[in-house]
Amino acid sequence: MRATYSAWLLVIASACGMAQSGPAQSSSIRTSGFNVVETLSVDASDAPTKVFHARMTIPATAGDFVLLYPKWIPGEHGPTGPLADSVGIFFRANGQALAWHRDPLDMYAYHVEVPKGASSIEASVDFLSPVETPSGFSAGTAATEKLALLSWNWLLFYPRGLGSDQVGVKASLKLPEGWQFATPLPQESASGARVEFSLASLTTVVDSPVLMGQYLKKVPLQAGKSPAHELDIAADSSAALAMEPQQVQAFDNLVAEAGALYGARHYREYHFLLTLSNHVAHFGLEHHESNDSRTGEGYLTDPSQWTLGAMLLPHEYTHSWNGKYRRPAGLATADYEEPMKGNLLWVYEGLTEYLGYVLTGRSGLQTPEQWRELLAEIAMTYSHRPGRKWRSLEDTATAAQTLYDAQYAFTNYRRSVDYYDEGALIWLEADTIIRQKSNGAKSLDDFTHLFHGGENTPPMVKTYTFDDVVNTLNQVQPYDWRGFFTDRVLKVAEQAPLAGIANSGWTLVYNDQPNAIGKLEEQDRSGLDTTASLGLVLGKDGSVDDSIEDGIAFKSGIAPGMKVIAVNGRKYTKEILLAAMKEAQSAHKPIELLIENTEFYRTVSLSYFDGPRFPHLVRDAGKPDLLGDIIHPKVTSLPAPFTGE
Ligand SMILES: [Zn+2]
Repeated sequence: MRATYSAWLLVIASACGMAQSGPAQSSSIRTSGFNVVETLSVDASDAPTKVFHARMTIPATAGDFVLLYPKWIPGEHGPTGPLADSVGIFFRANGQALAWHRDPLDMYAYHVEVPKGASSIEASVDFLSPVETPSGFSAGTAATEKLALLSWNWLLFYPRGLGSDQVGVKASLKLPEGWQFATPLPQESASGARVEFSLASLTTVVDSPVLMGQYLKKVPLQAGKSPAHELDIAADSSAALAMEPQQVQAFDNLVAEAGALYGARHYREYHFLLTLSNHVAHFGLEHHESNDSRTGEGYLTDPSQWTLGAMLLPHEYTHSWNGKYRRPAGLATADYEEPMKGNLLWVYEGLTEYLGYVLTGRSGLQTPEQWRELLAEIAMTYSHRPGRKWRSLEDTATAAQTLYDAQYAFTNYRRSVDYYDEGALIWLEADTIIRQKSNGAKSLDDFTHLFHGGENTPPMVKTYTFDDVVNTLNQVQPYDWRGFFTDRVLKVAEQAPLAGIANSGWTLVYNDQPNAIGKLEEQDRSGLDTTASLGLVLGKDGSVDDSIEDGIAFKSGIAPGMKVIAVNGRKYTKEILLAAMKEAQSAHKPIELLIENTEFYRTVSLSYFDGPRFPHLVRDAGKPDLLGDIIHPKVTSLPAPFTGE
């Protein structure tokens, strides 16, 4: 899972099934031999009204029969099933309405009184897709007048006591008139607005969302090769579906480079389900044979949105290997009721973040220059994270379910889902260590071949532990990998893990030139990031979104929730503040800020004389350019950059 870039910076300052506590490897995808088979008929024809309807038949036994509504949604790392928006719930048997009550200790459990003689019940439920939730992942806004992304878990129940691999689901779907659809879920038939899907496990159905819309474009990638790959794009306008040839080439490269990186694929076919709308939640959610990625309507037509969103599809695609096929044992749960353990998310998400960045570079979704500027931004963020003094990276992973929705204010002190990008820095360092110790003969690509590759298979889950990660790394290159991760992940580590940058032949520097990625991000959110100078992350109109706890501004009493009204007596703009910082540097005079806090005004004088400071990487000629090697395409050639011209 991943937030899109603007949401991401505001997060960083910047998802099963098998037998109970299962074997290390579960069998490949199940299409028969289920303990029970349910039917699930979803009516999405009212999608523009944001109300989705479902009817189910569920085999049942007489007495107090307990049905569960999915609670822990795979990939979301928390109990995020949208319970409050599942409404209009009725149960019937033999034509009679059945009484039900919610379990007082488990809101997701419904007790249904099933009469003697009844062997199945009919359930109906509506889902109210949120109209104003900007985040919320798959529970967030998902429908507009022109498109919708259906997550089946909104609209279903399953019997308590059965794992999601033991329940078969025969699903069908009714689309809005004139809309098309795309999904990895195998179909029996599709005619007009009706689609009949093949019998599949509950695991597979929940893992196979459906993208639908009036404007829907299907682009085959690596055409003619097996397994099949398809980029499926739904947008709020037909104009938003336009793509230049180099953009198609970059996506095509992504599929080829991923094949080279992992050495095998673990899906029957793969669908990139891409939603382009300014009116849906923006994030990416991984699935085994697809990803549900949602970003702005201008992603394919506006070069800055293209650049800022470049990492989204590579990250979610990587999860098919790292997260779905290989999964930490604590995240491989039998059903959606069993709580997930997040402590290895620094592998699940951190390694995915790193490999996603690597594939972003190798496919040409970003230029090498943009890629290095992004890395510099990440290095800056985690070098100004006072929260690292009290909290280990592992603790941010263990507490993941509390952090995704935490307020952005004080992120630097609380820490956030730092296992993504700080994880990426640590995996970069691991990659450089392998390259150095093996004199260039080996790299992290050898680890991914061993850990994620093997034979091509349909979806299956191979679980792992910390020891498995350490042991596989030692197979690639003997080293104290246990100590390496213990120091950086398990223990409190006050210093950011930046050695990978130095090892790879580059140096992190700060100067007054804007960072190319930081500048696009600032334009996108109308803000200014002075993390490395004043220690303020400013939002629209001077609002203080965060204030670095050991920064000069915070020490002078400027904190999140306040607003910078004026700079040296003149109304705040980002340009005025940057000019004042330069003036303070040359004249050695403090900067006077007028601050508003809860209706009160106050003047704060900042004795800061080092001018604007933005992060960049510069080449260290004394060392080989390993970064260049890491992001160099292995089996494709770079497309021309997309500049919109
Ligand atoms: Zn992810």
